[in-house]
Amino acid sequence: MTDFTKTHRWVVANGYRVRVAAFALICVPIGLHMLPRGHGPIVWTLFVLQFLIYPHLMYWFTRKAGDREQSELNSMIVDAVVSGAWVAGLGFPLWISIALFLANLLNHTITRGVPGILTCPLAFASGALASTTVIAFHVSADTSGLVTLSAIIGLAVYLSLIGIEFFAYINQLHNVQDTLDSQKKTLEGANAILHEQIGKIHDLQEKLREQANRDSLTGLFNRRYLEGTLERELARCRREGAPLTMVLLDVDHFKKVNDTYGHPAGDEVLRALSHLLSENARIEDIVCRYGGEEFLLVLPKMPLDIAIDRAAQLLKAFRETTVTVGEMRIQTTISIGIAAAPEHAESAEGLIQCADRALYQAKANGRDRAVAFAT
Ligand code: GH3
Ligand code: MG
Ligand code: MG
Repeated sequence: MTDFTKTHRWVVANGYRVRVAAFALICVPIGLHMLPRGHGPIVWTLFVLQFLIYPHLMYWFTRKAGDREQSELNSMIVDAVVSGAWVAGLGFPLWISIALFLANLLNHTITRGVPGILTCPLAFASGALASTTVIAFHVSADTSGLVTLSAIIGLAVYLSLIGIEFFAYINQLHNVQDTLDSQKKTLEGANAILHEQIGKIHDLQEKLREQANRDSLTGLFNRRYLEGTLERELARCRREGAPLTMVLLDVDHFKKVNDTYGHPAGDEVLRALSHLLSENARIEDIVCRYGGEEFLLVLPKMPLDIAIDRAAQLLKAFRETTVTVGEMRIQTTISIGIAAAPEHAESAEGLIQCADRALYQAKANGRDRAVAFAT
């Protein structure tokens, strides 16, 4: 259950203080007005009950109520009814009537808004009506100077109190607004940083994905990438009724190159060959480092005879390539095995086997040559 003292609803939090203050302020001019009129003990008892006990009683009711805000709003109707009753009972003393009516009107409008303009006069009038049915209707609007003065001072003090309360309340709202604004700014900043970091993570993921498919020495696609794409390329060419040719290349006597010039020089030879293969590739070709010094070209939509011509050009170009490493000038050759889908094999595995056998044949025939698979 909400702690009554902690509620932030202005109407409930302040209703008690406002009522105690209002009735205390108005009891002065009313008391002064009644004094010379010789009222009996019953009227004075009612006076004490009304102005000194009643506000606490209403507070007690509100504390007990389930819906405290509604209970406080109802209490304000009762306030207007009893105010009307007192005003009528006293014969509508002008300044007391004005002070009481305005104080009630203010309470009703600040808590209900526009409907308060209606609820206050209605409640006030019904109190007055009830009072005149018990006591005969009479009007004696005149008040003494002291009563008039104390009524005006009471009203002014009451209006000031309400003004001060609202000033503090609005300040508090502004502070809450400022806090919310600064928290919003902090959150927006954090959000921007988060977006930036997510962007960086995406870029890194993209780089990692790319690196996972690339060979670190040559930058060509690796075997892992080939496994993922060869089947797809074969299926595409099959669907389109186009050929797909595979070219498997192996550096001749590469072990000797390593032994003669050293492993780093061997790496340079592999890089030079990679460069040559990439430069001569079409956009749709897949150039891949298949193993240590073995390379594989997947040539979609390329017929076997054209692939044989290209292989011959590559052989010649590499034969004529001199790899310079420091003082060393390295020249070597490659051997090539060629197989084509669908004539030699239709599956990726079958095609690689055919190209491998053709390569073996090229080596056996004396190296530095290209051999197409023959059944
Ligand atoms: P063949 O003409 O029959 O192909 O003879 P080869 O010497 O080229 O064949 P072999 O398979 O005996 O030797 C391949 C060599 O390639 C052995 C290995 O050390 C070397 N090699 C594999 N990967 C790399 C690499 O990344 N860098 C270097 N420098 N050498 C490598
Ligand atoms: Mg080899
Ligand atoms: Mg070799």
